[in-house]
Amino acid sequence: MNPHDALTEIATLLERERSSRYKSKAFRAAADAIEGLSDAELHDSGTLRRRKGIGDSSFAVIQEALGGAVPAYLADLRERAGVQRASTLRGLLRGDLHSHSDWSDGLTSIDLMVDAARALGHEYLALTDHSPRLRVANGLSPERLRAQLEIVAGMSGSGFTLLSGIEVDILDGGALDQEPELLDELDVVVASAHSKLRMERGPMTRRLVAAASSSHVDVLGHVTGRLVEGSRGTRPPSTFDPRPVFEACAANGVAVEINSRPERQDPPDELIELALEIGCLFSIDSDAHAPGQLSLLDYGAERAERLGVPAERIVTTWPLERLRQWTQRDRTA
Ligand SMILES: [Zn+2]
Ligand SMILES: [Zn+2]
Repeated sequence: MNPHDALTEIATLLERERSSRYKSKAFRAAADAIEGLSDAELHDSGTLRRRKGIGDSSFAVIQEALGGAVPAYLADLRERAGVQRASTLRGLLRGDLHSHSDWSDGLTSIDLMVDAARALGHEYLALTDHSPRLRVANGLSPERLRAQLEIVAGMSGSGFTLLSGIEVDILDGGALDQEPELLDELDVVVASAHSKLRMERGPMTRRLVAAASSSHVDVLGHVTGRLVEGSRGTRPPSTFDPRPVFEACAANGVAVEINSRPERQDPPDELIELALEIGCLFSIDSDAHAPGQLSLLDYGAERAERLGVPAERIVTTWPLERLRQWTQRDRTA
């Protein structure tokens, strides 16, 4: 087995199961450290072991891979990942409108996110790093976002498009945390609440309705903010009246995000059913913070299929051209 592939697959599987990002980072660093080495250099184990970026675990993986076997650590991870969950709907998804890079709180460069999206067969991926007020996540100032746009513009080609975007914070009063002119320039705007999730029902409803009514917004991200499992602990859903929020989405052509992260599973089933009844569009997104998390779409697709969301109503089943017509639609607000 090719050692570089083994290290990269390990990192990817660690990210998918959302274990410590330091572990995944270490294997990515080891993969970088052996990139381009000749066979002779790889087999010189004394020198290899002392190379920067190679630790005990990655060294063992490289040795086993060079020996022709699937490294035990990788075999374990593959087994834990289990049989890939296959839904018919997953096969219809063409892209993903919510992802992060190391410009905000993602693990890797934009490059590696793009490589992974291409490897999954995506036609498009929107890069949606955080907005300025989310300092804990290194949110992008207008200047940094403008700089990022120049890089994003050069990342498409050969049947893949990296869409520019943002996950913009919905501020307490419902305003969006980025300059309106800059939001206008982006391909995709995902709006999400990350602070004051415990607001009273009335103000929280008004806050989400304001975001869903904004002429800048395309997708309403993880609408309840709940966490149902995982290392960050659990968090109950925000309290708000969902009907007017989803009615505003439907009226404004805003897609309700089905966030695929297993610790979010947001919105809950009954809210997806309500949004369906009200006539909303949906976007099944990974909210990936590492390349290996782009495949979390499997979980979102499985939920949407189980709840009977028709593919036609899911914008991420649409070809790029139709998706662009939608993001450039005439807005009501
Ligand atoms: Zn978010
Ligand atoms: Zn996000």
